[in-house]
Parts: sequence; C-alpha cells; structure tokens
Amino acid sequence: MNWWTTDETHDPARKSWVASANGHEAFPVQNLPLGLFAPAGREARIGTAIGDHILDLRACAHAGLLGGIVADACREPALNALLGLPAAQKRGLRRRISELLSDADFRNVVENKLFAARDCELHVPARIGDYTDFYVGIHHANNVGRQFRPDNPLLPNYKYVPIGYHGRASSIRASGVAVRRPKGQRKLPDRETPSYEPTARLDYELELGVWVGAGNALGETVEIANAAKHFAGLCLLNDWSARDFQAWEYQPLGPFLAKNFHSTISPWIVTAEALAPFRVAQPARPAGDPAPLPYLLDDADQAHGAFAITLEVYLSTAKMRETGDAPFRLSTGPATNMYWTVGQILTHHASNGCNLSPGDLLGTGTISAPDRSGFGSLLEISEGGKAPIVLPNGEERCFVEDGDEIILKAAASAPGFVPIGLGLCNAVVVPAV
Ligand code: CA
Repeated sequence: MNWWTTDETHDPARKSWVASANGHEAFPVQNLPLGLFAPAGREARIGTAIGDHILDLRACAHAGLLGGIVADACREPALNALLGLPAAQKRGLRRRISELLSDADFRNVVENKLFAARDCELHVPARIGDYTDFYVGIHHANNVGRQFRPDNPLLPNYKYVPIGYHGRASSIRASGVAVRRPKGQRKLPDRETPSYEPTARLDYELELGVWVGAGNALGETVEIANAAKHFAGLCLLNDWSARDFQAWEYQPLGPFLAKNFHSTISPWIVTAEALAPFRVAQPARPAGDPAPLPYLLDDADQAHGAFAITLEVYLSTAKMRETGDAPFRLSTGPATNMYWTVGQILTHHASNGCNLSPGDLLGTGTISAPDRSGFGSLLEISEGGKAPIVLPNGEERCFVEDGDEIILKAAASAPGFVPIGLGLCNAVVVPAV
C-alpha cells in the first residue's frame, strides 16, 4: 500500500454515531487527528477529536479495545512513541478507531470514553526534542527579500537548498496560550545606537508544522523515496516574529530572539494517513529554474508530495470582541505555494546525517500566495509597515497590537472526499512586562 492510497476510513459515506462529527468542518470521522488532552482537573492523556468530542485512546487501550504495541503507545504520556511506529501500525490504529466510532455495535463500550471538547484542555501533543523552521514559501521569501535586499531578493542558493535554521522547542505552546509581547534590541533608522524595549513590529507567520514520525540514527540519512515513512502529520504553526529585532540581529547568523519567544501550534496532529486523499502533485517549477539535486528528487514525491490544503488567517481585535464583530480574514491561499515538499525538507534535514526523532517539529516557513490576498504575514500585507490595513470597524493595523487575537485555519479538500480541518491555531497578544 502506498502512502497516498485511501482505504475504507476515507469513505465519504462513512458516518459516526457521534452525531456532531457528521458534517463537522474540522473533525468528521474521516479525520481522527491525534492529540494530548486533559479533562477538567485530570491528567493529560492521548485522544482523538471526533466532532465536538474527544475520544480517550488511553482508556480504549486499558479496556482492551486496542491491541499490541499500538495500545502500549496510547498509554504513554505524550505522542512520541505513537508517532514513531511503522506506517502499517499507524494505519491499523486509524482503521480500528474509525471502526469504533462508526460501527454502532461499539457505542455502548466506547461512549463512556468520550469527553466534550469544550471541557478539556489541549496540550502540545509530543515532547518536541528539536524544532527547525524552513523557508519554503517562495513568494514569502521573495516579498521579504525585496524589503531587506531590494536588488537581490532571492539569494542564489534558494532554488538548490531547502533553507532552514534551528529554532527553539521550549517556547512552543498550544493554541489559546497568550503571547507576551517580547522586549529586545531594536535600532531605529534615525538612531545611532539600539535600545532595549518592547517590539513595535510584532508579526505572525502562517506556516504548516510537520511532525516527524520514524527517526533516523545519527550518521544515517533519509532517502527521498523513503521520506514519507518519516512524516507523521501536520498542524498549523504561527511563528510569532518581532520584525524590528529581526532586522537588527539577523546578520550574520540568522534569526534568534526575534523568533524564539513564543510559537503557537494547533494542538491536533492531522495524520499522514488522514491526509492521503488530499495529496496532489508538487507544482512544476517555473521554466528556467534548476531541477532539484538527485538526492531531493523522487517521482512519487513529485507526483503526490504536496497537499490540497487551503490556509486562512483571521484577526480579532479586543474592540471587535467587545462589540461582537466576527474575526476579519486577513488572507487566504493554497498550501501548494511551497517550493519544496515535506519529503524534501525531511530528506534534506537528514542529508548530512543529522538525526531526526519522533515528535520533532519542522516548520515549513511562511506560506504566501503570489498576490496580496494570500500573503502570510503582516510584514508583507502592510509592506513593511507602510500600508496599514483598515478593518471594517475603522481600526488600522500595520503590525499586531496588544489584545489582538490571530487565528490560523486550514482545510483539506478533494473531489469525492469529505473535507477535513486542522483545527484552530489561535492566541491573544498581551502587553510586555
Ligand atoms: Ca518562520
């Protein structure tokens, strides 16, 4: 079975006896994302989202409804072991959960293991050993490069090397955790020296988070033809960025404190298995671009390595929430605006023998469309702070203000299949200390 092959769990006719799942925009029975949740006042455990409920997979394992090494992994306090299982085991788990939630015969033994999602707290789903952020959104790279280097926006390595840097795992938080406006060094153009103060150019970055499945030993590489075995699933990632700190500190070693003060992820891992129907071809490179070097080029990866996912960013200001206004959509665009596939960034990361581990997280980098309607950061939308956005209530924004909530959303859809969502990636910004 190939990694893009669908099975009965993707059948659009399949319904759940959990009524809220049928027609649910994010979590129908065709999705079954994995996460770590804590019912009110109790410890966190592994579960799956189904409609507006969460199924306790640890309880399913204890009750003998799951078997073997999958059941052992579901009893763990985080998802690392489960993510690292072979694809056949993970596919087997998905088929079993789908059966438990769609076959009414199981209702009487499963229903008491469901919790209302609104009563639960969602955690970062795995112990993230390492976090790396890539830069595969070529339109973002062009737009930002133009602001920093007008004559030379895209450096010559971009079309050969999936550019990335090692980020900070300790400051990654799940949706809903407030983001404290960071303080740092900024140097204003009309000043001789920098000052230490709260950022005046706080931004979001719309990214996909790539969860690493099976790891590779130090010194070994991941062949591009096998990269899918190392891909466990996707979430949304907001790589909060302080643009004024970034501009001052980024040379010569790249991003540092402008990026590592807080990153927000959507807490559900939408699995590689769930995403099978939404695999599409990697868009052809523009004429004149070089072909990827052979270690990054694989026919199946090129034919199925991209995702039919639509991304959206919304802004809700404190004033909008007070007056009951709906969040304002800042942008929308497709995830196919990635110059490199997930398989290519996994392979490239391990290409020098760097060891990846189950539960590592890779950010794709900001995914922007070629036009303003799909720009994935305020730096791009406001043209570096020169062109404020006017919101429907008259408020203006160049960058993120205290009290603002940024909400990332994503939906995967394909003809003949039930669409699934990644859930919300949202956080409110609170003032600096
Ligand atoms: Ca980023």
